[in-house]
Amino acid sequence: MPDQSSTQRRPLIAANWKMFKTPAETEAFLKEFLPKVSSDPGVEIVICPPFVSLAAAGALMKGTPVQLGAQNVNENSEGAFTGEISPGMLAALNCTHVVVGHSERRQLFGETNSGVNKKMLAVLKQGLIPIVCVGETLAEREAGTTLAVVERQVKEALVNIPSADTKKIVIAYEPVWAIGTGRTATPQQAQEVHLAIRDILKDQYGSLTSLSVRILYGGSVKPDNMAELMACEDIDGGLVGGASLKPDAFLDIVNYRQRKAAGR
Ligand code: PEP
Repeated sequence: MPDQSSTQRRPLIAANWKMFKTPAETEAFLKEFLPKVSSDPGVEIVICPPFVSLAAAGALMKGTPVQLGAQNVNENSEGAFTGEISPGMLAALNCTHVVVGHSERRQLFGETNSGVNKKMLAVLKQGLIPIVCVGETLAEREAGTTLAVVERQVKEALVNIPSADTKKIVIAYEPVWAIGTGRTATPQQAQEVHLAIRDILKDQYGSLTSLSVRILYGGSVKPDNMAELMACEDIDGGLVGGASLKPDAFLDIVNYRQRKAAGR
């Protein structure tokens, strides 16, 4: 039996700001948000602004419990890759996390499972934590292929990842039909896929790793639905788009436990 104390998963709540917020808007958000975050919020908080706002965000987050993430990365360390950003460049800005393979990047920018795997390897090599996104489209769900699609995405993302690194990775299950649509997966729908992902990890890496990896849910997470999603055994946090753009809404999501305890 794995030692439970070593497999306690601390919830992680990550904000994906997508292509929103200039450096000045980032500063305005953080100047309102950071003072309201408890010094020991009971969850890990990561904010992923656009590349151009990383430096401004990092300067304000220094010494706070909020960590800095990027939304994408190039797998090469340097070279003639116009417009791209390397893992080392992100590390130099004090990023700790990187979102890899978001469905918008897969759908709009042609990212493939094997490309996602290359980014995962490069991010881990740099000592950063990848938040790798997987999830089915509506057509795939309606065709009954959700679990097969997600299994393939997870397995292909993890090819050749050193076993010592597997515990560090974060997986975000984001059904494409729930992203930015206001249509959230039910806790049952999400839990079914989260459990299937944990089973894949167990088959490949064993119980200890599978119980250590955090699996976030993403797709129209809001202050009102966070607590019920988090009540599911295999949901370890959220990747939040739209609702993370307003300081008070994101704070309500981060404080889901305190709000539930207070009956709010
Ligand atoms: C996302 O961008 O990863 C996301 C889940 O967006 P939203 O919360 O707006 O659905």
